[in-house]
Amino acid sequence: MAHVPVAKGVFTWPSDDPRLIGSRCAGCGMVTFPTQDSCPRCASPEMAEHLLPRRGRLWAWTTQEFPPPSPPYAGPTGPAFVPYGVGYVELADAVKVEARLTQTTRLRTGMDMELVLVPFRIDADGNEVVTFAFRPVGAAG
Ligand SMILES: [Zn+2]
Repeated sequence: MAHVPVAKGVFTWPSDDPRLIGSRCAGCGMVTFPTQDSCPRCASPEMAEHLLPRRGRLWAWTTQEFPPPSPPYAGPTGPAFVPYGVGYVELADAVKVEARLTQTTRLRTGMDMELVLVPFRIDADGNEVVTFAFRPVGAAG
């Protein structure tokens, strides 16, 4: 089965060491995710691509118990839907990234998390669509 990224320009692909693609302001150093064309802090248009660190700390989370509104949600619905964790992970650049979490239990504020790519859905062409998520460092799977 072929694998395709959920969107272009969100994470490095293909990659054995996936990284989220953010942007960094040449003027004030602010880091954004996803990329932005101008700085939300100083309005500079000098934004350069910036690969974010793979690891961060869990800042807040919840469990998505039902399918989000579609669009933009394009994942499984009905009986195929499985509740998933969603949270904010604060990366070393002080940017908070909203992401899926690989588990909904055994989470605690401040725990170390790492970026992983996970299966999301099968598209109309039979490709497995891959998205990004964070899992606790040291967790299996
Ligand atoms: Zn700036």
